[in-house]
Amino acid sequence: MDKITIAIDGYSSTGKSTVAKQIAKTLGYVYVDSGAMYRAVTLYAIQNGLISKDDFNKEALIYQLDTIVLSFKFNESLGYAEVYLNGENIEHKIRTLEVSSYVSKVAAIAEVRQKLVAIQKRIGEDKGVVMDGRDIGTVVFPNAELKLFMTASAATRAERRYQELKARGDNVSYADVLKNVTERDYIDTHRKESPLVKAKDAIEVDNSNLTLEAQFEKILRLAKMTIEDGE
Ligand code: C5P
Repeated sequence: MDKITIAIDGYSSTGKSTVAKQIAKTLGYVYVDSGAMYRAVTLYAIQNGLISKDDFNKEALIYQLDTIVLSFKFNESLGYAEVYLNGENIEHKIRTLEVSSYVSKVAAIAEVRQKLVAIQKRIGEDKGVVMDGRDIGTVVFPNAELKLFMTASAATRAERRYQELKARGDNVSYADVLKNVTERDYIDTHRKESPLVKAKDAIEVDNSNLTLEAQFEKILRLAKMTIEDGE
């Protein structure tokens, strides 16, 4: 059976990665979280004093891009590859509200996008990939056989992200999480470089009122139909 490419785009905290991981596992495909790459570059910028509340030294970040080495190692117990920054596993460190508060600014830089899109295209060369992000169906894999565009209300998304952060033990307020979700939506949809837009041929999935199970079943059905159509 020929493998396809599945591109999942959408707003922040729409549950893209949850369903992408489930679909990849079920089909025996590779799951790639492109947002983790933008988060990794952001963590680098924070750790190296290049970005803070009042300052962002874009030139220095662009200059240092070649020294940022991202790699992925499959974690057997999790069932997907974790992201490493210059050899360090940073999965936990990139999921903080601090990284979330800067990541959209870092992701708006053309040079950052060029570097990460090249890595993403390489990973997807042989198909059999489920990748989630903001520009996967439009820029990274414009020829993907299945494109999904996930949406949900901002309040639903903020509540989900808030519960996730609380469960990790992070001390955050719902108001701050909602503010972050709406700010990122704004920057991601208004930036000059590869803004978040629904690809013409993407199928929109609004999951505000869908259970995880129902969403998974719906997307798996679409994936199987697409695979069968190509045979
Ligand atoms: O998916 P996640 O919320 O982890 O992504 C973090 C941020 O990275 C997004 O808000 C967006 O600014 C950026 N991003 C992007 N393009 C992608 C994936 C993520 O610009 N393909």
